[in-house]
Amino acid sequence: MKKHNFYAGPSILSDYTIRNTSQAILDFEGMGLSIMEISHRSKEFVAVMDKAQMMFKSLLNIPEGYSVLFLQGGASMQFCMVPYNLLSKKAAYLDTGSWASKAIKEAKLFGEVDVVASSKESVYSYIPKDYIVPADADYFHITTNNTIYGTEIKEDIEAGVPLVADMSSDIFSRPLDVSKYDLIYGGAQKNLAPSGVTFVIVKDEILGKAGRPIPTMLDYQTHIDKESMFNTPPVVPVYAALKTLEWYEQQGGVEAMHKLNLEKAELLYGEIVRNKLFVPNVKDEADRSIMNVTFVMDENYKQLEADFLSFATSRGMVGLKGHRSVGGFRASIYNAMPISSVQALVDTMKDFENKN
Ligand SMILES: *Cc1c(COP(=O)(O)O)cnc(C)c1O
Repeated sequence: MKKHNFYAGPSILSDYTIRNTSQAILDFEGMGLSIMEISHRSKEFVAVMDKAQMMFKSLLNIPEGYSVLFLQGGASMQFCMVPYNLLSKKAAYLDTGSWASKAIKEAKLFGEVDVVASSKESVYSYIPKDYIVPADADYFHITTNNTIYGTEIKEDIEAGVPLVADMSSDIFSRPLDVSKYDLIYGGAQKNLAPSGVTFVIVKDEILGKAGRPIPTMLDYQTHIDKESMFNTPPVVPVYAALKTLEWYEQQGGVEAMHKLNLEKAELLYGEIVRNKLFVPNVKDEADRSIMNVTFVMDENYKQLEADFLSFATSRGMVGLKGHRSVGGFRASIYNAMPISSVQALVDTMKDFENKN
């Protein structure tokens, strides 16, 4: 039986993505060859890359003047590639979690870093709101969804300086105004594809201003010029990404995904708040992630934590254990998760309450 998959990443992918990728591994478009064993320069694979870039642009309504890249090295490589290419004197960062703080660590290698605000003192359980972005910063970096803590910046903010966003775990979860951003990046393994490919959406005109030599592979311009084919791209993850993008289009695009994501989040947070055994980790509703729902056992029932996890496991649920830095539980309810799996979790929580 297929499990209810709440893993945070790598994580659930649509059946459409998995079936079609499996088929292409066995026999790619009737070529009598696997997608794993053909040249990335073949016209068949070049068409996959082109279509994936095109669909990225159409699904997110990306304006003229931006490039979409498929790179390697994960979001973690972007932590250094962003400052390498964009930081000339000073950059501003919002510290909303351990991914953000890893990005800050790398940026410090390249120049002055102004951490405008941090919620570290409360284990990142909220998004800081009162901060000032210095007008002379080369860019302002945010992490829109904090996968570990379950907080999310759910609107496109006005930064006053070029805005850079790590959207690893919420890309395609809602409509975006890409024109508000100068660069958006993320690892694919949360809402797009298996791990191995990293997406970057970059405004072409911001490049070439950092005033330092950049190694070829770490220079965005290289990958723009060569259409993400400077070196061998991760062909299977790129193909899987294309299939996920097709699936999004079939579902009605990001507006439809957003509507369903809001329904799923409301159903689950509603039960966490109602159920006497549980409390949400994030107190301010406005900051609650619609992708990663974090919750803990109520003080009076702390001793039931392990029991709940094994009860949920017996109901076919996987990946619910919270990150060690937060404890408790985390239900990742990415785009590909059907509302029936969220309902199954809610039913499990109700049944567990009745047993206790
Ligand atoms: C998972 C994740 C990362 C790390 O991605 P890698 O591809 O493993 O480097 C970075 N930022 C966020 C927000 C994430 O969720």
